[in-house]
Amino acid sequence: MNEDDSNSIKNFLLSYGLKEEESEKNSDIIIINTCTVRQHAEDKALSFLGSLKKISTNKKIFFIGCAAERLGEKIKNKFPYISYVIGAKSYQKIYEILRNELYLSDHLIQNTFSLNSKISDYQTISRGCNMKCSYCIVPDVRGMELPVPFEKIIGDIKKKAKNGVREIILLGQTVNSYIDKQSSKKFIDLLKEISKIDEIKIIRFLSPHPVFFNDEFFEEYKKNHKISRWIHLPLQSGSDKILKKMRRGYTIEKFKKVVDELRRSDPTTSITTDIIVGYTDETEEDFNLTLAAIREIKFSMVYCFKYSPRFKDKDQLTITNKELEKRHQVLLNEVKKIAKELMYERIGKTEEVLIYSKNKGITISGYNCCIIDCKNMKEGDIYKVKIENVKNNTLYGRAI
Ligand code: SF4
Repeated sequence: MNEDDSNSIKNFLLSYGLKEEESEKNSDIIIINTCTVRQHAEDKALSFLGSLKKISTNKKIFFIGCAAERLGEKIKNKFPYISYVIGAKSYQKIYEILRNELYLSDHLIQNTFSLNSKISDYQTISRGCNMKCSYCIVPDVRGMELPVPFEKIIGDIKKKAKNGVREIILLGQTVNSYIDKQSSKKFIDLLKEISKIDEIKIIRFLSPHPVFFNDEFFEEYKKNHKISRWIHLPLQSGSDKILKKMRRGYTIEKFKKVVDELRRSDPTTSITTDIIVGYTDETEEDFNLTLAAIREIKFSMVYCFKYSPRFKDKDQLTITNKELEKRHQVLLNEVKKIAKELMYERIGKTEEVLIYSKNKGITISGYNCCIIDCKNMKEGDIYKVKIENVKNNTLYGRAI
């Protein structure tokens, strides 16, 4: 979502004829869009901010996003050269401020400007989150779930489609809980309506929450092949005790039912997940339950995070750092092994591949794919490809 917000701000400035500058030294405006989901992300942003001290004279420095929301104006005590602090909840304010600061007026908009044509693009459909996972700071810094109006989303995607976009990635913290209360349109209505846009070939979404899947979705998934066959479904832990502590709202059985339903609807579905290792009170037994779930469900990829306590007073790390590192490594090894096996199982099968550039693209099941003996395929088209080999996490195949 930050990437999408940064792109919107960038496109806004480009549309007024401003130029993107590689080096901070030569820039008049520096916008730092921050993440605070892990302490490490916030530390990196602050360290970058510190590095700007020597070159900050006569520059407009914007500190925006989730860390800005959390730290607020007091950040200026430490970094007085920041011009504006804009938190994630009020990120839209940046447009007004930029207009005023830069004396931008609409006559400056360059008619020749057009967005960089991309095959794949994001579309934010809601901001914030109504869930209250114990480890997560998102509801605090982004607020309650706020859907983008249905018609606006469809209008934006139509524009992107005209501009060359063929794969749209819907974004929301719990993307499948979307409901526009004005029109009563839900996530499933969005999927159906976007599918009617001819130019859009693949609809992906990040990240769905297991509790918001329902029969209506599975019915549509079965028959609508524009819906991505790669589903990112965050599990976080394989232990019911830990899931409850995390307030995730499901048990491992319930999670497995969603997986089964997805695979029953389409056995080619590739499922990826997130796991937090070493959450408060995670015992060896809990960790082994996570390992067992990984082995049983067989995820195509698992993003493994070492638990990083955000606040000193709650949800502390209850294992040593050495143990945390060990569990993380054990999990990574297992994940890599399974991911590799699953990729090799695709050899001999036919995949649909959306071409990003030359002979490279992405399968509808989410794998990078390289087409052998065919250099100039049409970007944005979908080809059926028979997979022959796997190398460096990429499938290799021939168009048939
Ligand atoms: S659903 Fe996701 S964004 Fe919402 S509180 Fe839980 S982890 Fe955070």
